[in-house]
Amino acid sequence: MDLKKLAKTLIPDGDLREPAEYETIYPPRAVEKGAEVTRLAPSPTGFIHLGNLYSALADERCAHTTGGTFYLRIEDTDEKRKVEGAVESVIRSLKYFGIKFDEGAEIDSPLNNYGPYYQRQRAKIYRAFVKKLIEEGRAYPCFCTAEQLDEIRAKQTENKETTGYYGGYAKCRNLSEEEIYKNIAEGKPFVIRLKSLGDINNKKIFRDAIKGDITVTENDQDVVILKSDGIPTYHFAHAIDDHFMHTTLVIRGEEWLSSLPVHIELHEALGFKPPRYAHTCSLMKMDGGTKRKLSKRKDPELSLDYYRKAGYFPLAVVKYLMTVLNSNFEEWTLKNPDGDYRDFKFKIDKMGKSGALFDLDKLNEISRTEISKISAEDCYAFLNEWVSEFGTPADITHFKDKEYIVKILNLVMGTGGKKRRKDIERAEQGVRLIDYFFDDTFSPEYAYRFDAATVNGVLNGFTQVYDPADDNSQWFAKVKAVASENGFAAETGDYKANPAAYKGSVSDAAEILRVAVTGSPNSPDLCTIMGILGKRRATERLLKGRK
Ligand code: GLU
Repeated sequence: MDLKKLAKTLIPDGDLREPAEYETIYPPRAVEKGAEVTRLAPSPTGFIHLGNLYSALADERCAHTTGGTFYLRIEDTDEKRKVEGAVESVIRSLKYFGIKFDEGAEIDSPLNNYGPYYQRQRAKIYRAFVKKLIEEGRAYPCFCTAEQLDEIRAKQTENKETTGYYGGYAKCRNLSEEEIYKNIAEGKPFVIRLKSLGDINNKKIFRDAIKGDITVTENDQDVVILKSDGIPTYHFAHAIDDHFMHTTLVIRGEEWLSSLPVHIELHEALGFKPPRYAHTCSLMKMDGGTKRKLSKRKDPELSLDYYRKAGYFPLAVVKYLMTVLNSNFEEWTLKNPDGDYRDFKFKIDKMGKSGALFDLDKLNEISRTEISKISAEDCYAFLNEWVSEFGTPADITHFKDKEYIVKILNLVMGTGGKKRRKDIERAEQGVRLIDYFFDDTFSPEYAYRFDAATVNGVLNGFTQVYDPADDNSQWFAKVKAVASENGFAAETGDYKANPAAYKGSVSDAAEILRVAVTGSPNSPDLCTIMGILGKRRATERLLKGRK
């Protein structure tokens, strides 16, 4: 068969370059030996999830701890799944978590020498290589219809054989020249398939950068490399792109492991040295005692938007993911509590080989710790940013008074005292936590543990003596006096020695004041809270709190 003629008929484009030219157009990168070139290669579906962030962090760390490059490539070969604004959303979401690309789609960078970074814009490159494979007898047109493929599949299923287009089932592999030209003349749609030379009885050891040595069975499937719309499949496009963009390490989800044999053969057929591959394990969660994969349908926490809307502290999410990525990161943070996570020596081969457990409780704990380390001013900025995007109109009004909020935060975070408090976990929760400092959002439930006479006695009594000029100990002395007047023990020790003689201890009396002023039996230092609220508002609340 005249393969050159066939290639020209199937790929008639008059403006294709010679494949070898691309080696000159995309020369090796000027990076140091050992520098990793990594990429995030999402499809623009608009759904950016924790798995993307997890991979992106591994990519970014590998590149930036070795003096390499991390770039963004958009795998948009499937037009149907494309969503407007998806690329911007990937960039924005990752930026929120402090992850930046060095080059790539929509990235303004002088390094953008390996583009275009949208696969649809690279069609000419792919087509040049498909043409080459046809000329070399490593690819052929397939005219099978969807119905014929269904029939093949049904037969294979019935015979309990592997499904797919291979061996004797690969009908179009053996079409005569005459049949091919006849089909083309009749205008039958076709795809281009790889002519596999593999044998599934041959097994090879493959070194995965995370999973170590794994046994890989040779591919024998004649996979589609160019679809009938002239656009390549992911398999083919990624091989070309990672070669010409000089990716050294492909970090991707383990769902791609089953395609690895195809990818190895594609690189061989194209004459390319494959990059190293690192297949990350899936993110799992505990659900009713069993471990399962995080699912888009069941788990809102899979979406990155969830973290932004809930106002997670970005650094906390990143640090949490670092603990999932490298199990020794946690140990490192214990030794370097204030260290920058970027100083940790991230190692791809230290990543877990199987199911990484995602633990929201642990993330929350890290989030509380990280927020407790910042200043009240920085916390104001963080909360205010969330408020401006997700807050209620009342939140927006409250946050205009920065001085008042910073005062509250100094108290809630314990920044003035010796010991930092860890009350703020996320922006959303933090903003709700301080609602009681504002009259329009103060909605107490007044869950008192004492009868009306006692509650009213304490509240009336304290209203009469309260003076905002009192310091903490003067304030407390007054609480004791009012407690005592109302049947409580002024000293805890007295109460313990003879509980039957009192209604409760001074702390129980103070709880009545606390409930009236804050709406809750638990709060930071009440004397300071009353000081922040000011005399008029504090007194109003004491009186309003009466039963
Ligand atoms: N486009 C593929 C995906 O979104 C990328 C896989 C890869 O990283 O090679 O899953």
